[in-house]
Amino acid sequence: MHIRDPKLIADLAALSVALSPGASLADLTYLGIGGSSDLLRIAKHESIPPLLAMLEGNHIPYRFLGGGSNLLVDDGELPWVILQLAKPDPEVVLDRAFAHVDAAADLGRTVTYCAKHDLGGMEGLIGVPGTVGGALRMNAGAYGMQIGSYVREVKLYRAAERKIEILKGHQISFEYRHTSFAPDDMMLAVTLELPSKPYKEILQGIRICNEKRRSSQPLGQKSAGCIFKNPPGASAGRMIDELGLKGLSIGDAKVSDRHANFFVNAGHATANDMLSLIADVRSRVEKAFGVQLENEVVVWNA
Ligand SMILES: Cc1cc2nc3c(=O)[nH]c(=O)nc-3n(C[C@H](O)[C@H](O)[C@H](O)COP(=O)(O)OP(=O)(O)OC[C@H]3O[C@@H](n4cnc5c(N)ncnc54)[C@H](O)[C@@H]3O)c2cc1C
Repeated sequence: MHIRDPKLIADLAALSVALSPGASLADLTYLGIGGSSDLLRIAKHESIPPLLAMLEGNHIPYRFLGGGSNLLVDDGELPWVILQLAKPDPEVVLDRAFAHVDAAADLGRTVTYCAKHDLGGMEGLIGVPGTVGGALRMNAGAYGMQIGSYVREVKLYRAAERKIEILKGHQISFEYRHTSFAPDDMMLAVTLELPSKPYKEILQGIRICNEKRRSSQPLGQKSAGCIFKNPPGASAGRMIDELGLKGLSIGDAKVSDRHANFFVNAGHATANDMLSLIADVRSRVEKAFGVQLENEVVVWNA
């Protein structure tokens, strides 16, 4: 989708929205798959209500991109413009046990910054790529912790009401890779309350989590992390592994040899290659175990 109307382009600039024409989603996602579209980078949260009113008024569909680490995007010319928050400076402001974090902040840098100020709890999230907003959206977690446990307040744009609102932590439910946010809510900032711990102790926890990731995940390869959610009481990776599917490939889309729930782009995989592999593995698991695996990866089909 391209914005060519000079008036719209001037209106975007007036809202401090930077337009990058024809951005490649393959370059913007960790899987390295995806076609192209105009990318709109938003410098000010306050620009979002007028920006969306403008896009809707001109029948321009949009999708919201965080860090691109949990996304499988279709190939070719994409039928929506891509919105993304610009990186703020600073990303995090600390006030005693509270960390006020912009949604565009890098998650790993946020964990490390808080750790250096003796605020822990998020050690398991080290190594989870992407933004804090993306982590909030689906309650990212690992090694027994999840970001939702620390959320005290979220600033978000509520598309249904067309305005920016603040939600208290108790108004939001955070479950395993699921939240009560509406699908079109946009997370803009969050306040986390973190347990106070000496930096050395947090660092020890971070090292342990890093080591676990290094020993079990294909970190040097293009992936979106786990493709499927774990069904209640079971492990998607273990089921796929038990069926001997590590290494199974369609085109350049491949089930990782290291972690059966990570599917990698081993070269020039297309969205169709990856979707076919996902469908194939899902149907084999269903046949063998009677369990229908649910995607953890978010698919943007054109
Ligand atoms: C190597 C690797 C390891 C991983 N390990 C883990 C893990 O251990 N645990 C885990 O939970 N995940 C893991 N992931 C998946 C991924 O990193 C997380 O889900 C991450 O939180 C996604 O954030 P993002 O900013 O990259 O979101 P994106 O991939 O950009 O977007 C994902 C979805 O969130 C939406 N979104 C993004 N930002 C916002 C926002 N501000 N407001 C509203 N919606 C938004 C997008 O529209 C999209 O629907 C891993 C991924 C990789 C590549």
